Amino acid sequence: MHDEAAAFEHVEGMIWADGPVCPHCGVVDKAYRLTGVRTKPSKKNPEGKVRHGLWKCRECRKQFTLRKGTIFEESHLPLHLWLQAIHLMVSSKKDISSHQLHRVLGITYKSAWFLTYRIRECMRGGELAGFCSDGGSVEVDETFIGKGPGAKKAKTVCGGSHKMKLLTLVDRDTKCAKGIVMDDSKKSTLIPILQKNIAQEAYVMTDEACQYQGIGACKVFEAHDWTNRSAGEYVRRVYPEVHTNTVEGFYSIFMRGMKGFYQHCGKQPLRCYAAEFDFRYNLRVANGLDDVERGSAALRSAVGKRLTYRRPNQEAATTVILG
Ligand SMILES: [Zn+2]
Repeated sequence: MHDEAAAFEHVEGMIWADGPVCPHCGVVDKAYRLTGVRTKPSKKNPEGKVRHGLWKCRECRKQFTLRKGTIFEESHLPLHLWLQAIHLMVSSKKDISSHQLHRVLGITYKSAWFLTYRIRECMRGGELAGFCSDGGSVEVDETFIGKGPGAKKAKTVCGGSHKMKLLTLVDRDTKCAKGIVMDDSKKSTLIPILQKNIAQEAYVMTDEACQYQGIGACKVFEAHDWTNRSAGEYVRRVYPEVHTNTVEGFYSIFMRGMKGFYQHCGKQPLRCYAAEFDFRYNLRVANGLDDVERGSAALRSAVGKRLTYRRPNQEAATTVILG
């Protein structure tokens, strides 16, 4: 979509089903469109630029556009570029980096970084309802994105000193995933996170790692079982089948994306990346959503999200070696 006016109409139709909402006084459907309004003349634009998507509220007499109060605010980038960036980010299977966006959209790297940062934040879903509230199986596994050699070997070691641990839950029935970045994987950290995110009715499946051994004892879930992967047991053919193959599959796609684009990664960017990845995974074609619907979901969650502008050079840079 290269037409700015059409971009505004597209998003307006999506977020204002009951008519325009005034962000100043909150009144719905009492605003009228202002056309032909231009910005103040400048050297670059002696006649001023057309202000697209401008509305005026009949109640409070103030002007607004849909950008007000959303992630699109405080950015001078045209809305149609935002939409293209969202489309590219939700439709690419692996991941799209700020550098790619900078090349594809013909904008500065700084702007591209800003776009990817904001859009990633907007894909970060709200708290999901407890996984498996209907008593299904949930697979739990963790991966280490840490410093130095041996990061992967530490998988079965309790606690550990590695920098970033990503815990992932996959609901086997809905195939929905949720990633949580943890400071450590001690039982005292892990169990409360599981309790917060998984319904009591769930059948929890893990591998044999020792931090999971407390799950059954705490008696908060219907059942807990595990396979002994280090002894070559990957699936136990009982009902329901005991395995963590779904979450392992999730990690293999996750790592492919991670390797390509995130050579430097602090904890915050990992959270963002994990959220973005979950978003795409949860809304993937297998779950019945196409790229357009994924884009709409991202746009809807964009409304109301305002973030502080962090410049690229403020990003924490910790070297990551993927095992
Ligand atoms: Zn108003």
